[in-house]
Amino acid sequence: MRKPIIIGNWKMHKTCKETIDFIQEVEPYLNDHCTYGIAAPFTALKDACNHAQKLVVAAQNCHYEDHGAFTGEISVGMLKETGVTYCIVGHSERRQMFNESDEAVNLKVKALLANGIIPIVCVGESLEAFESGKTNEVVEGQIAKDLKDLDTEDIKKLVVAYEPIWAIGTGKSATKEIAEATIATIRQAIAKMYGDVSEEVRIQYGGSVKAENIKDYLAMPDIDGALIGGASLKADSFKAIIEATK
Ligand code: PEP
Repeated sequence: MRKPIIIGNWKMHKTCKETIDFIQEVEPYLNDHCTYGIAAPFTALKDACNHAQKLVVAAQNCHYEDHGAFTGEISVGMLKETGVTYCIVGHSERRQMFNESDEAVNLKVKALLANGIIPIVCVGESLEAFESGKTNEVVEGQIAKDLKDLDTEDIKKLVVAYEPIWAIGTGKSATKEIAEATIATIRQAIAKMYGDVSEEVRIQYGGSVKAENIKDYLAMPDIDGALIGGASLKADSFKAIIEATK
């Protein structure tokens, strides 16, 4: 069965020292109920990989080309050298602030899979789309483009994160019923493209998840973990989340 995966998305937070301190504080509290991890900034990835034992380490972005004149970008090969095993792609902040398109997400997913790094593909609708009842249409469209032309064997490895944009960093979270229904829709969209392997894809919910509500999401049949921003930044808060997943 699908093992839940809980990843803290640190965004542009934490130096190398802060990363190491966090890992040392959190590692003793990890259990085998879930896969737990952190998505640290590029500069802290190597230190994170050197210090993490049970925690998995993710990057927050990558470029899809191997190398070239792309000032400020990081290739998947460079990421691989740090030891990361996961990489977030298509986070709504990157889609909104850095114009990341579905086509770019698809190329990044392919580059990551070709290099043995598991993509965490973020999808989710705006408040406007949510309020006008277009959630399913939006996520189905993103899935069709982001996961286009992949190998069925690779689909099994994927993590998808359903993150309604209106719930990210706002303190407003989707109800467990809304999250479950949309995640079930995402699974059906993957099934339409790739068949039964959709049952093996881990699909997280993200959007103001914290220790107080994580249990509710994990209790839903289609929700396989969480992508957590704000509440993953402090070791105490992350430890409370780990405790709540037992
Ligand atoms: C995120 O940025 O992926 C996220 C879910 O943030 P938060 O938990 O702070 O809403």
